[in-house]
Amino acid sequence: MRWSKTFIPTMKETPADAEVPSHQLMLRAGLIRQLMAGAYTYLPLGWRAIRKAEAIVREEMEAADAAEIFMPALQPIELFERTGRKEAFGDVLINFEVPRGGRKVHLALGPTHEEVVTDLIARQVSSYRQLPLILFQIQTKFRNEERPRFGVLRTSEFLMKDAYSFGTGLEQLDESYEAMYRAYCRIFARTGLHCIPVEAESGPIGGDASHEFMAPSPNGEDRIIRCSSCSYAANLERADTGRQASSMDAPETMADLKKEATPDVSSIEQVRKLLECDPSQMIKTLIYSADDKPVAVLVRGDREVNEGKVRRALNASDVALADKETVLRVTGAPIGFAGPVGIDCEIIADHDIADLVDAIAGANEADTHYTGVNIGRDYQLETTHDLRDADAGDPCPRCEGTLELVHGIEVGHVFKLGTKYSEALDATYLDEKEKRHPIVMGCYGIGVNRIIAATAETSHDENGLIWPLSIAPYEVLVIPLDIKSEEVMQVAGRYDEELRAAGVDVLFDDRKARPGVKFKDADLIGIPLRVVIGGKGLKNGEVEVKWRTADSPDMVPVAEGVQDILNRLAARRAEESANVPN
Ligand code: ATP
Ligand code: MG
Repeated sequence: MRWSKTFIPTMKETPADAEVPSHQLMLRAGLIRQLMAGAYTYLPLGWRAIRKAEAIVREEMEAADAAEIFMPALQPIELFERTGRKEAFGDVLINFEVPRGGRKVHLALGPTHEEVVTDLIARQVSSYRQLPLILFQIQTKFRNEERPRFGVLRTSEFLMKDAYSFGTGLEQLDESYEAMYRAYCRIFARTGLHCIPVEAESGPIGGDASHEFMAPSPNGEDRIIRCSSCSYAANLERADTGRQASSMDAPETMADLKKEATPDVSSIEQVRKLLECDPSQMIKTLIYSADDKPVAVLVRGDREVNEGKVRRALNASDVALADKETVLRVTGAPIGFAGPVGIDCEIIADHDIADLVDAIAGANEADTHYTGVNIGRDYQLETTHDLRDADAGDPCPRCEGTLELVHGIEVGHVFKLGTKYSEALDATYLDEKEKRHPIVMGCYGIGVNRIIAATAETSHDENGLIWPLSIAPYEVLVIPLDIKSEEVMQVAGRYDEELRAAGVDVLFDDRKARPGVKFKDADLIGIPLRVVIGGKGLKNGEVEVKWRTADSPDMVPVAEGVQDILNRLAARRAEESANVPN
């Protein structure tokens, strides 16, 4: 492709509203342009990269025996009503009514396709003989994201590979999940994007039922806890710690329990100021409703309650903060004055709580706190639990190591769904004995745009993007330095032709521009291999060949250049695929 014939509007200046490197560089390198908040046009370079990532995803899905389909983006709202997801998605679900034949039809734009695919299977599959089955598609999804941001990392319209597995039971589900998990490892290795699988919040099927594939990056919106010694990694939402219960006995020496007047002082921050204490000395007491039963959850004042952990510790299916009437009933006070001393409901406490001596806590009385609160004397616990978000420095739950906290970009997600959708939408099968069961499902998503955006975010230098060969928009950039020189153009043209004939993706910079401009743009758009053909070099019978990341070019004899480039590309491809697991 000739540069003059394609459309690569590079920019010198960093756009003011682009906060993160990927957004800045994708704009500057002419990969994308914004239409409105959360909506971008992919220009030729951006789209070529997307298409290459998409091809890898498709190949690996097919290699894992998933069959490609294509479902409508436009969907009837009833399906979302039947699964309860109209409510669950809330404003994120783009839905509207359209007039049709004198009546109104209520439609949604698919944010994912569990409903549509389960409805399809409900109608088409009836016997265990038709299972297991994995279907996938690569298609545009629509989500009215609250905060579309960071360029194409979070948009309201994006390309997702979504796959769905259908099986007779947990055994088939586990097999499909394994196959998808392995395919994901191969996909990310092939695209050159460093991604780690992390345990994620798992929903109805407990245990090891969900993994997110995260590209570690300081600007990632997700927080990942990982062990510095072993391979344990989990989303902060899900991460366990290896902390243990301490003694529930009273400390050896302790202050008296004392009431302090704290008028209108209900938040941790307000109490800290008034009583001049550290939040780590306070007991934060939150009243939850767990399957409609009130429970007081205690964590240290400087910590956050992890609701998933509370739900698991209580073995409850639903936990949410209690309303103010419930708080008033169990504490006798408005919100903000709850504490463990004399509270009228079940208490569960985080491990940190048992180590507090002379703590400060709400007194279950309006405008009042206690100081000198001590376990074993002022309130009793039989045990403590891991109820708070993990943090850097906590012990690993799997080994002797220490946990660290890093940020990450969620690029893929595999999830054991179980029978949530098949039950809601009547997708059942008959077993050998003609007995009916709900089909057991899994779902598996990859954000194709995020592969590109996360690559830009994690693979660049101060001059521009650095593409891996596998998803680079072009593999080789041929730059003739003087387009008026017939000799230069003749050699450059021959390189372009011969490389393309050998199956290489070549971009040919035929612009009438100064060498400095061409070199700057070359670094900015980040094509892996650059070949410079100039009058001076040709006089010595040489061309310049340079990897994007090399400090200086190699001079290669003109006659050997094409073969040299082909050899380099082959070696690089072999290097890149050496990292791909089986
Ligand atoms: P997030 O937590 O980032 O909002 P999600 O967990 O809601 O994502 P899933 O429903 O798991 O996303 O979708 C599967 C994949 O689709 C994600 O792993 C991500 O790569 C991609 N994706 C989700 N939302 C967006 C978005 N708004 N823009 C671009 N890609 C997205
Ligand atoms: Mg997800």
